[in-house]
This record gives sequence, C-alpha cells and structure tokens, in this order.
Amino acid sequence: MLKVRGEEQEQLFLAARAIRKAYTNDVVSLRGVIEVTNVCRVNCDYCPMRRDNIKKNERFNMSEDDIFRMAEMIISSGIGIILIQGGEDRNILPAVEKAVRRIVSVYKDSVEIILNLGNFSKEQYIRLRDAGASSYILKHETSDSSLFQRLRYEPLEDRLNNLVVLKSIGFNVGSGLISSLPGQSIESIAEDIQIALDYNVDMFSVSPFIPAPNTPLHLSPAGDNDLALNAIACVRILRPSILIPSVSALEKNGPGGQYRGLSAGANVMTVNFTDIEHQKKYLIYGKDRFVVTKDHVKLTVEKVGMRLQHNNVPIM
Ligand code: SAM
Ligand code: SF4
Repeated sequence: MLKVRGEEQEQLFLAARAIRKAYTNDVVSLRGVIEVTNVCRVNCDYCPMRRDNIKKNERFNMSEDDIFRMAEMIISSGIGIILIQGGEDRNILPAVEKAVRRIVSVYKDSVEIILNLGNFSKEQYIRLRDAGASSYILKHETSDSSLFQRLRYEPLEDRLNNLVVLKSIGFNVGSGLISSLPGQSIESIAEDIQIALDYNVDMFSVSPFIPAPNTPLHLSPAGDNDLALNAIACVRILRPSILIPSVSALEKNGPGGQYRGLSAGANVMTVNFTDIEHQKKYLIYGKDRFVVTKDHVKLTVEKVGMRLQHNNVPIM
C-alpha cells in the first residue's frame, strides 16, 4: 500500500476519505501553534535547532507573558486548541507551566492545550498535566531503533516508554514519524504505522523529511510526499477516528502538499501564531520554511470540501 501511485493511489485516498467521513463527519480540527523555544538539548541530524548549532543560532526562551499573549491571539481569532511546541529544554518548563495554568484559569473549558516539547520525567509531565494541558505529542520519528540512535544519539526506547507514561497519567497522546529519512526502509514505515495501533495513540503525524540547512543531512534528497501521503491514508483506514495533521512539511515539499494531505485522510491543520521576532529564530526547516496562515488553511480546507471546526463549534 505504501508504494502505490497513480490510479491505485487515488483509490487508496478515496477509501481513506470515506472512512474519515463516516467516523469524523469530515471536519478539520484547527490548532494555533506557539513556538516557545529554539533551545534544544538533543542533537538530531535533521534539525537546525540541534545542540551543536547552539552558537550559530540566536537563542530564545519565551516568557510566561509572551506565551499567554500569543494564546490570547489564538483564542481571539476563534481557535480553541493551542499547541505549545519547542526544542527540548527544561528551562522552558516553568514558563510553560505558569502560562498553561493562566490560560486555563481564564478560558476554562473553551480552550484545549497540546504540548510538544520532548522527553521529560514523569514528575515533570505530571506538573504540566496538573497545570491544565490535556494532550502531549511525542513523535517516535522512526521505529528503526538503530536509525533513531544514529540520527538522534539517544535510544528510541526512551520515547516509546514516555508514550506509555504520558498515557498512564491521563494525557491524550500523539506520535508519528518522519518519512524518507536517509537510510529508512519502507518496511520500517509499516512498523511506524503499527506503533499507532500498538500504543493506541489519539493523534499521529507523518512529515516528509526536509533536508534543512546547517544540518549534517542538508545534502540528502527531500522526502517523497507520495510516500508520506500513503502512510497518512493507511493510518486513517486502520484508526478511523484518529487525529492526523496535514503538516507544513508537505507544503514545503511542493505547493498543494497540505491539500493532498487532507485528500489522503488527514483532519487537522495548524496556524502559526508565533510572533515574527521569535518565528525568524525558530529555524525548523531553515529560514525559508513555509509558515501556515489562517487564509491558507481556509483555502485548503474549502478546496477539499471539508469544514473547519474548533471544540465542536464550526467556525466557517
Ligand atoms: N523538540 C520536540 C521534538 O523533537 O519532539 C518538538 C519540536 S520538533 C521541532 C517538532 C517535529 O519537527 C519533530 O517531531 C520532527 O518530527 C519534526 N522535524 C524536525 N526536523 C525535521 C526535518 N528536517 N524534516 C521533517 N520533520 C522534521
Ligand atoms: Fe531538538 Fe526536536 Fe530539533 Fe530534535 S527535532 S533537535 S529534539 S527541536
């Protein structure tokens, strides 16, 4: 299934869309993302925010007030799901914890907070949960443990164990992969999809690999969007109600990439609310990454014939 192209691929997407319609009513869940830090303890070979670039990049950690201010912008634009994302840096946790507590105390049940901040201890996760965050995304990136170790210089096991920890303390949990990583086999991508089932995750994302500047992998070929799209469709068919984002990396790899993501069965889109000053320093795919705006999301969702929704209330 992962290899199909042309007419066979369209049939796969059609099946994925039929399942999405039956189980999710064809609604696109909208998130606003705040990128809270570009400091990272990890040294991923594919990411410009890797530890070895610490001297090359101008570093930032947002304050509680910064995060709260951007959360207010997200909420006032009609989006109720806030995604707080960043490099893996324990110094950001106090600001995130305080900001989450403040957002939830002001906006109560009208807001939902998702975190994507990396590997921490159970105690640290409990503090974030107690502050009011309800979901945590920790992508396993690749199920090939030797590839994971080679690209991230740490064991895959730690991430997988943390998915179990996060679930056990009540978080909705997200995982996912980067597809077309140099050295990754198609069989291991089938294993990646199996993880969505084995770990019973609530959210799953598939990003095609982007060869980012200032990384050891900058000369490697860009990921194959078709492979990522096929993986999205397979996950939708196997886990009908799961949340799958149509990620900006699909659009960065080719215009219309996020439209194809929704066509393949995705049902989440994310608008970037990081202010320009910090956005310029958050170098995830290098300086010319594709920054998703609300207009782009609206056009994409309209084109595919779905509806945007926030917390069960359609906003368009
Ligand atoms: N630091 C946290 C982590 O790695 O889990 C969260 C932030 S990280 C920037 C968010 C995601 O970006 C990662 O899970 C990874 O899948 C994705 N990413 C980073 N570099 C990438 C690249 N070159 N190509 C595709 N995806 C990439
Ligand atoms: Fe750090 Fe995440 Fe980038 Fe890896 S992908 S270097 S963990 S920010």
